[in-house]
Amino acid sequence: MKIICIGRNYSEHAKELGNAVPSEPVFFCKPDSAILPKSNPFYIPDWTSDLHYEVELVIRINRLGKNIQHEFASRYYDEIGLGIDFTARDVQDELKKKGLPWEKAKGFDGSAVIGQDFISVQEFLEEHHKQFSLKKNGIEVQNSTSDQMIFSFDQIIEYVSKYMTLKIGDLIFTGTPAGVGPVHAGDQLEGFIGQKKFFRVKIK
Ligand code: MG
Repeated sequence: MKIICIGRNYSEHAKELGNAVPSEPVFFCKPDSAILPKSNPFYIPDWTSDLHYEVELVIRINRLGKNIQHEFASRYYDEIGLGIDFTARDVQDELKKKGLPWEKAKGFDGSAVIGQDFISVQEFLEEHHKQFSLKKNGIEVQNSTSDQMIFSFDQIIEYVSKYMTLKIGDLIFTGTPAGVGPVHAGDQLEGFIGQKKFFRVKIK
């Protein structure tokens, strides 16, 4: 399986990092080795001094597809989860300056937190009203809804599948809203869709 991540999909977040709001989706991949094993703590790598959390809605692909048309895109996922796209911001900034790929800053071991539960699209829409949030040490630091995305789930699937075949079990991190920030050893992150908790990660 592969993990595809969308960058700059919330305009307030693009602005907070000084990036232009994109006219087409920006995406990159994390390897499957990036997945933080369930209930493991996250160890900050020793090669970064500015490790950021980014809470993101995650969709799971449930059928094989290539060149998927927008009108059929919603048939390719039926569950939504929540994760963190951990980012070594200092490393990413250096790579961006040099015009280099972001993998070192985005694809390292443990950089993909994925809550163990996925919920139906119907539950996401009707019970949780598309809302999700992240708490750091019990204080809310990110809160948004999927309505704030620049590119919708279906637009993302249409776009990415022009370039890459989507396979069953592939995950798409759909971008983070404003409010990203650093973590330090001893911090605790908790992610929610609506009031329902999807993960808790201890930072070491
Ligand atoms: Mg992200």
